[in-house]
Amino acid sequence: MQSFPQSPVQGQMMSQPLSISSIIRFAARHYGGSEIVSRRVEADMPDLHRYTYRDCEARARRLAQALAERGVAIGERVGTLAWNGYRHLELYYAVSGSGAVLHTINPRLHPEQIAYIVNHAEDQVLFFDMTFLSLVEAIAPHCASVKAFVLMSDRAHMPAASTIPDLLCYEELVEAADGGYAWPLFDENAAASLCYTSGTTGNPKGALYSHRSTVLHAYASALPNVLNVGAIDTVLPVVPMFHVNAWGLPYSVLLSGAKMVFPGAALDGKSLYELFEQEGVTFSAGVPTVWLGLINYALQNDLRFSTFRRTVIGGSACPPAMMDTLIDKFNVQVIHGWGMTEMSPLGTTGGLLARHRKLPEPEQRKILQKQGHAIYGVDMKIVDDDGNELPWDGHSFGHLLVKGPWIIASYFRNEGGDVLQDGWFPTGDVATIDPDGFMQITDRSKDVIKSGGEWIGSIDLENIAVAHPGVLQAACIGMAHPKWDERPLLVVVRRPGAEVTREELLAFFDGKIARFWMPDDVVFVDSLPIGGTGKIQKNKLREQFRDYRLPGA
Ligand code: AMP
Repeated sequence: MQSFPQSPVQGQMMSQPLSISSIIRFAARHYGGSEIVSRRVEADMPDLHRYTYRDCEARARRLAQALAERGVAIGERVGTLAWNGYRHLELYYAVSGSGAVLHTINPRLHPEQIAYIVNHAEDQVLFFDMTFLSLVEAIAPHCASVKAFVLMSDRAHMPAASTIPDLLCYEELVEAADGGYAWPLFDENAAASLCYTSGTTGNPKGALYSHRSTVLHAYASALPNVLNVGAIDTVLPVVPMFHVNAWGLPYSVLLSGAKMVFPGAALDGKSLYELFEQEGVTFSAGVPTVWLGLINYALQNDLRFSTFRRTVIGGSACPPAMMDTLIDKFNVQVIHGWGMTEMSPLGTTGGLLARHRKLPEPEQRKILQKQGHAIYGVDMKIVDDDGNELPWDGHSFGHLLVKGPWIIASYFRNEGGDVLQDGWFPTGDVATIDPDGFMQITDRSKDVIKSGGEWIGSIDLENIAVAHPGVLQAACIGMAHPKWDERPLLVVVRRPGAEVTREELLAFFDGKIARFWMPDDVVFVDSLPIGGTGKIQKNKLREQFRDYRLPGA
């Protein structure tokens, strides 16, 4: 870790380590009556579970006590395979608050990858929701480090028989602890949670967050220019708690005192819509693919939201057509967010400056479509292939590098070796930054299409394609070309019942892009490969079209 010079004169403020347990202690003491509502995972129970921050803290503390009494030591990893729900939230605080490391695992990964991650992290205990019982039964024999498996339910729901050795019951663990446990204090740089990247190439790598980085990220992300979460909000994180800590919402919402609503496993448009309305959700966050389901359900049934007013969309580029629908049809403000697992994850959020309000609506929209402004704490720059810094002119695009106290300095167990370049983390994204500091992603560097020495941004092409009324989803990939090296191929999923043709679609691009950006061909498919975090998997798509030849190539 980098060290810095000491001043002979020290500030005379109280010294209190930043700790995750301080968030739940604060939440219970100062917003104790704020509600947490969760859609249950157990099918036969009443649909919703309700309690307060105060209840959550008491149960999290008992769970922390249970972990400590079972010998889970400071720094040891505890895995979770769980949906967004109140027990998962309790684990967020119980595990990190006890000094152990919360390792949230993405259940959508391939079982072999899950076993690899559990072993790499050396998880000592594995907590899981009922949904994942057969998954855990399959991987348990391959998870040598795990000393205890805990089903996140009560005795009545425990399976009569399971191949999992000594399967424990979550509610029994909580009940057995007497609550005579105080949250321990430790150094704020202690590890708090661990999240593995989706690993599109090679094995997933772990980002190991500290108490300090998590608290600072939570503070900053609640700011008005970022998520603007307050005690009058009702927040429903659609973004899963098994992927980058649900963008920090389990922390930032609790320190803000807002009501929290968890959707459990029901992420389809209908279930989400009903929960939004029933619980009066005002604010949400999720990836574009989830919004697609919710928006389509609301449009097909001619429904509107009565309380929902703001959402963050990120994880992959929010198509302008989706932003327009949410703003113009549903009166929902869209905050475009960008970040990555290695950044805890938030780096930038979209929005307007005061003077932008004077601009005509379409120009304002263009600004909102950018991935946005750096959040205080994050610095960024763009560089060319030789590492020379590029100007913030809104046109020059280059490799995006970042630094800040919630950005990794290295991966867990130093996988991948030294990742920093002169103290900056290379994001693998390609971006422009305008003179006002608004960043716009043009591509992942490995997805950029290089045509005749020039770069073509696939995101722009996809955004235009999905603005066509006949297009549901689109992905653009570079195909080998004898003359130009690579040329764009557009792969499209039509909207159900839509008849759009290749020619119509290409004509739709006319006048919207430079001539040489025009896709060489359009192919229609039934679906696109979507990964465990809701992103289109372009590597799989490139594999799928490996033998495809562009016209004239
Ligand atoms: P992950 O670590 O799985 O969250 O993936 C991080 C990557 O997702 C980033 O490096 C970007 O390539 C992509 N990403 C995240 N948010 C956005 C966004 N708003 N627009 C475009 N790409 C995004």
